[in-house]
Amino acid sequence: MKDILDFTHESRPQRVVFRPGAATNATAGEAAGLGLRRLLVVCGSRGTATARAVADSLGQACVGLHDGATMHVPVEVADRAVEAVRAAGADGVVAVGGGSSVGLGKAMALRTGLPLIAVPSTYSGSEMTPVWGLTEGGEKRTGRDPVVLPRSVVYDPELTLSLPVPLSVTSGINAIAHAVEALYAPDTTPLIALMAQEGVRAMAAALPAVADEPDSLEARGRALYGAWLCGSCLGATTMGLHHKLCHVLGGTFGLPHAETHTVVLPYALAYNAPAAPDAAAAVARALDTHDAPHALRELATRLGAPRSLAELGLKEADLAVAAAQTAGQAATNPRAVTVDGALAVLRAAYEGGAPEFPAG
Ligand code: NAD
Repeated sequence: MKDILDFTHESRPQRVVFRPGAATNATAGEAAGLGLRRLLVVCGSRGTATARAVADSLGQACVGLHDGATMHVPVEVADRAVEAVRAAGADGVVAVGGGSSVGLGKAMALRTGLPLIAVPSTYSGSEMTPVWGLTEGGEKRTGRDPVVLPRSVVYDPELTLSLPVPLSVTSGINAIAHAVEALYAPDTTPLIALMAQEGVRAMAAALPAVADEPDSLEARGRALYGAWLCGSCLGATTMGLHHKLCHVLGGTFGLPHAETHTVVLPYALAYNAPAAPDAAAAVARALDTHDAPHALRELATRLGAPRSLAELGLKEADLAVAAAQTAGQAATNPRAVTVDGALAVLRAAYEGGAPEFPAG
C-alpha cells in the first residue's frame, strides 16, 4: 500500500445472490426484479441438465435454451446465439455454466444490448467483469464494455459440487491469480486490496477442503465465495505479466486455460515480487507464509495440479516465440517485461522448478 493514499475506486451496479439452491430458487426473482419476462438461457453442451433446471425454474419467463457455448467464444458461435436470441424475441439472457457460457452471454449482450444474468458453475470469475472476448481466425480479441457486466449474479455452491477436483483446483488457482495481479495493478485501490487478500485467503483455505471432500457444500461455498472476491478484483483492475503470458500460451499454443494459470502463477509472482514487495507481502499474509511464490507452487503440487508447461504440452522451441509475443504486447506490470525477462519466467514455468529469480 502506498504511504500517501491516492486512488480512484468505481463501484459498478451489480446484484449478487449467494446461497445453496439459488440457481433454481433465486434466478426467477432476479429476472423479475430487472423487469425481464422473456429470457433465453445459454449453456455449453455438457451443462445442459443444470441449465434446463434453471430454465424450468423460470417458468413462463423462459423462451428457450441454447446450448452452443464453447471455449473462447468463436465468432460463429456468438453469431448463432445472437440469431437464437433474436428469433426467440428475448428481452434478456441467462448464462449458466463456466467462463465459456458466461463469455457467450457477454458476446450476446455486446451485440444486442440485452441484459445478462449469470449463474456461474466454476471459479473463473468472468461473471464479475465487464470484459468480453471473441475468437476469430484463431485470434482472441478482448475488450471492456459495461453492457456485458452481468446485472445480477446468482452464486449457487450446489452447482459446483459436480466440478471435478482437478478442475476445481486449477480453476481456484486461476481465481487466485486475478487477486494476486490486482494487488500490484496500477489501478488497485484499498478496497480491492482487502478483497484480493480475503479472496486469496478464502480460496487457498477452501481448495484442500474441496479436494478432501468434494461433496462438502461448506467447502464448495467457501471456494465460490473466494471466486466471487477474486473475480471482483479482476473486473476492477488491469492485469499484468501473468495474465499476458497465459493469454499468449492459450491463444497461440492452445494450452488449457485454468491449468496454464496454475503453472505460471508462482513464477510470474516471483518475477514481480522485487518490484512489488507490498503486494507480495500481502499475498504471503493471505497464505500464512513468508514466501508467496513457493507457497502457491506447494499448494498446487499438494493438490495434484500440473507442475510445468512441459507437462501441458508446450515445446521448448515455443518458449522464445511466446517470450517475444509477451514482451511485444505492452503489458501493465510492476517490473519491466523484457524479452529476456519473459523468457526467464517461461523457462522456469516450462521446467517447473523452484520459483526464484534474481531481482535484476
Ligand atoms: P469452461 O467454462 O470452458 O469450463 C471448463 C469445463 O468444465 C467445461 O468442459 C465445462 O463443461 C465444465 N464444467 C463447468 N462447470 C462445471 C460443473 N459445475 N461441473 C462439471 N463440469 C463443469 O472454463 P472456465 O475455466 O470456467 O472458464 C474459462 C474461460 O472463461 C476462458 O475462455 C477464459 O478466457 C474465460 N474467462 C473470461 C473472463 C472475463 O473476464 N472475460 C474471466 C475469466 C475467464
